[in-house]
Amino acid sequence: APNSWESRADAFSLYGFTDLPSVHRRGAVVLTHGTGPYVYDVHGRAYLDANSGLWNMVAGFDHPGLIEAAKAQYDRFPGYHAFFGRMSDQTVMLSEKLVEVSPFDRGRVFYTNSGSEANDTMVKILWFLGAAEGHPERRKIITRVNSYHGVTAVSASMTGKPYNSLFGLPLPGFIHVGCPHYWRFGQEGESEAAFTQRLARELEATIIKEGPETIAGFFAEPVMGAGGVIPPSEGYFQAIQPVLKRYGIPLIADEVICGFGRTGNTWGCQTYDFVPDAIISSKNITAGFFPMGAVILGAELSDRVQAAAEAVEEFPHGFTASGHPVGCAIALKAIDVVMNEGLAENVKRLTPKFEAGLAHLAEHPNIGEWRGKGLMGALEAVKDKATKTPFPGDLSVSERIANTCTDHGLICRPLGQSIVLCPPFIMTEAQMDEMFDKLGAALKQVFAEVA
Ligand code: PLP
Repeated sequence: APNSWESRADAFSLYGFTDLPSVHRRGAVVLTHGTGPYVYDVHGRAYLDANSGLWNMVAGFDHPGLIEAAKAQYDRFPGYHAFFGRMSDQTVMLSEKLVEVSPFDRGRVFYTNSGSEANDTMVKILWFLGAAEGHPERRKIITRVNSYHGVTAVSASMTGKPYNSLFGLPLPGFIHVGCPHYWRFGQEGESEAAFTQRLARELEATIIKEGPETIAGFFAEPVMGAGGVIPPSEGYFQAIQPVLKRYGIPLIADEVICGFGRTGNTWGCQTYDFVPDAIISSKNITAGFFPMGAVILGAELSDRVQAAAEAVEEFPHGFTASGHPVGCAIALKAIDVVMNEGLAENVKRLTPKFEAGLAHLAEHPNIGEWRGKGLMGALEAVKDKATKTPFPGDLSVSERIANTCTDHGLICRPLGQSIVLCPPFIMTEAQMDEMFDKLGAALKQVFAEVA
């Protein structure tokens, strides 16, 4: 209808990250509210959101404690900045808390409004350090193919996705090394351990070729998220961290998705048993109830940046809403809710059921692989399971599956040829059954259509 919410959305939106033919066919979904893990559209239809919004609404859409924390802080002190040595009490408390729950003995925190800005900020910190320590040539950033670090000019340059060429990115000095996805990139006859060793050798060769003195840092998501939920190959971080250490290159964990419980531990780096030099956090940090990102520097980087800032008398960086008191109050509550009110426990409790559900759907001849860690998972569609041949791109198989799910009241995400699930931590077993039943039916229907 010409005046429908859907057509108004179409008329006035520049859609981001949207397969336009598919949204034109199906129409937008315009939402009004949510309860638990469900969201409701303007027609009153309910959708089980199997992606926690964008990986972030881990406590669901109406958590009373989080709403109360926001309201109380709006009443008390609804906004302030963190410039000029001034900041809210909530900001101080959150920084203390973040260092306390981090894998670091000591550290310092810098706030942003998003994960993209947190990655940008970390890159600027590394560049600031290079300049201050007499190594202005130390500017290059290494990330991985298929990684996702954000959309600002710097964080998009870090992101290892082909679509960045549509913007003429990456900027010079952003280098992408191999993706640790064994099923897709392992060579004929190569064991997973040998694959991991090959990636570590290739990383070292890249560092040597580029000049170790020119590399400022290496960033990695413990589990790649928007690349299609790709857990690292066996022993990956244990193989690459010594290479980075040999050349004095900091390892930065982008924990924007993995942080605060998603993989079954507070941090993804704990799940994979490594200690990075700094952590990038966002999304779950406020359970999605406020836009916030944070750079958490470990002791060594923290000391070096502090010394560099003292030397030039300031670290000239920050956003108007960095350390926003309402965001900080919500984050303090969100961390408490996730860690102390059973949500992190629920991730652990539900993981075996989640994995069993994925494994069951992966028995379909058109699912090549299931993968996942904790409560993030993916099913990869293939035309031919034996040869791992993908479907032709113009069939938009994963978009069709996701749209069919939407028609049946389930929101899940197509990423490449994968369907991604990232349920909220509050999900019940019955809701998980509903998720897999609806997804299973959609897979059957679409694979029958495209076979
Ligand atoms: N880093 C990772 C690992 C992400 O998944 C994302 C967003 O999905 C970002 C960074 C960017 O965060 P934002 O969208 O808040 O800018």
